[in-house]
Amino acid sequence: MKKSSWMGFMFLVMVMFLFPQIGHAAGGGTGIYLDGKALELSKNAQVQNMSGNVMIPIRVVVEELGFNVDWDTKTRTVTIQQSDTELKLVVNQSTATVNGNKVSLPVAPKLMTDTVIVPIRFVSEQMGLSVGWENTSKTVYLTSPDSGSGTGNGSDNGSGNNNGGSDGSGSDSNVNDTANLANVSGISFNNNQLMIAVDKNVKPNIFKMSEPNRLVVDLPYTQFASAFSSNQSLDSTMNGFFDVTDYPDVSKVRYALFNNNPSTIRVVIDMNNAKNYTLINNNDGLIIVDLNADSNDNSGNGNKLVVIDAGHGGSDPGASSVTKKKEKDFNLAVALKVEKLLENEPNIEIVMTRDSDTYPTLQERAKLANSINADIFISIHANAGSATASGVETYYTKSDSLALANVMHKYLVQSSGLSDRKVRTKSLHVTRETTMPAVLLECGYLSNSKDDAVLFTEDFQNSVAEGIAKGIKEYLGM
Ligand SMILES: [Zn+2]
Repeated sequence: MKKSSWMGFMFLVMVMFLFPQIGHAAGGGTGIYLDGKALELSKNAQVQNMSGNVMIPIRVVVEELGFNVDWDTKTRTVTIQQSDTELKLVVNQSTATVNGNKVSLPVAPKLMTDTVIVPIRFVSEQMGLSVGWENTSKTVYLTSPDSGSGTGNGSDNGSGNNNGGSDGSGSDSNVNDTANLANVSGISFNNNQLMIAVDKNVKPNIFKMSEPNRLVVDLPYTQFASAFSSNQSLDSTMNGFFDVTDYPDVSKVRYALFNNNPSTIRVVIDMNNAKNYTLINNNDGLIIVDLNADSNDNSGNGNKLVVIDAGHGGSDPGASSVTKKKEKDFNLAVALKVEKLLENEPNIEIVMTRDSDTYPTLQERAKLANSINADIFISIHANAGSATASGVETYYTKSDSLALANVMHKYLVQSSGLSDRKVRTKSLHVTRETTMPAVLLECGYLSNSKDDAVLFTEDFQNSVAEGIAKGIKEYLGM
């Protein structure tokens, strides 16, 4: 992305008003990298962590990405414009608008001395950036969509599991021990196959994205081998690409160090036409993504794509239990158990909307599932209501989801051992806006002391996760 040329005098005046270079020192040690380049932050415009949300001074977005920014002192409104996207954020208001549509923010923008800080997750994702957050060094890594289309919807950020926002737990301090990472020594495209050479076993996460069509291959726990750049293009920001001219479906292969924690290389195949693929990964040092497959099914390789959505997260705790436990923690614990149970299932691919204590918006959750053409969407929640209400419910919105709801509910009742509050229909964002069969499971009542007493036990969570996994398999005919 290049700096826009429209930044005129008035704009600079506004920026100077908003972001003067003087100020008090804030907690340092944090940094922002954009496509590998460190951004300069003034002393009063530092990265902040507010209730688990990484907040950044908006100026860095403005200056480095060339977005058009306007500040209205009276209404305390920041307007950010990029191509066809217009974002409006108001200081201290947790609702923003994107092209006139209301969207909720994990945290309201704040005026710090003279600098507006905004949740990076929101702004960057709305602007099509991918976000990585390294907790140990408190560093934000931004990756701009390199398609150059700049429409704000071209984010490659589809896997949903490597975004900003920190739970501050720091428990993964050893995941980036470079000795444990697999080295990627070569990436090539031949015989209509993408080939990636690795020196350890890697479990790639592959998904399709559209507009423009591309196939994204994430390689968790990998790094570029030191010799990589001597054989292939790789710039100092750990980005490289090569053009593909001899296969009509493919125009380019791009690769980058996409995320730092865990260290993840992302390879993107830019497609001229949507194509199906087969993953060949025999743990023999070569990962092959074969585009010769000629099947019409939309899941590409015949695998079923299941999106598991742990409700709430990050700044949104969900319901609170009788004993003050948080719904978001229950949801995530069960979701991770389901993922684990199905991770070795040969014909199922699991995509998580979140796998840590972060808050993807409802829109992002639905968009993720739609953009990868998921086969089913399962949202995991626990309910709250009157103190006497107890038991499990399964919600769906669209009629194409009823069959899934019935199967999932049967297993939810069985595995929870709680009373059957039936399959219900309700207009909920994630079950309404997703384009595949989608259900939302309420796995018990946090407001009920009997339910609350079991919901956070390992036994209950294991059992419910097993029930959900069984339901998914039964519905998919496996
Ligand atoms: Zn909930």
